[in-house]
Amino acid sequence: MTTDSAQKIEINLINALEDRGLRKTSARAAVTQRIEAAGDAFTAEQLCRELPEVGRATVYRTIRHLVDAGALCKLPILDGAPMYSVARVEHHHHTICSRCGAVGEFRHSTVERVMRSLEKEIDGDIVGHRMEIFITCNQCLADNAKGDSHA
Ligand SMILES: [Zn+2]
Ligand SMILES: [Zn+2]
Ligand SMILES: [Zn+2]
Repeated sequence: MTTDSAQKIEINLINALEDRGLRKTSARAAVTQRIEAAGDAFTAEQLCRELPEVGRATVYRTIRHLVDAGALCKLPILDGAPMYSVARVEHHHHTICSRCGAVGEFRHSTVERVMRSLEKEIDGDIVGHRMEIFITCNQCLADNAKGDSHA
């Protein structure tokens, strides 16, 4: 797949919270550090389990603030709780493995052109769009092939 060379943005999650007027507390720092260290998409429940010392309400509230700040993407999942992933490029779309939940980011100029051309056909002003493509990732395909050969 050819993708645009999207501009990478350095995300500092705790700064994103402070920009929203939230004090840096040890609980919030624990949440943001955990998210930054994971590097993978996660559900709020997973984060709560990994951070038993942080209250559930704090975990959920911190996630919501980070989503509002644009630092986290909230990803709908076909069946199950939404997942969250760190937004590493400014405008992007997602691939989500429907088996293992692995999340990828992509940008494609053709997609953006199609979206712009839709503007003429849609009543009103488009103020944004989102797109998630559900896939079976290569890892899951490989695991599946392995499973088949043993069957
Ligand atoms: Zn994203
Ligand atoms: Zn997968
Ligand atoms: Zn787009």
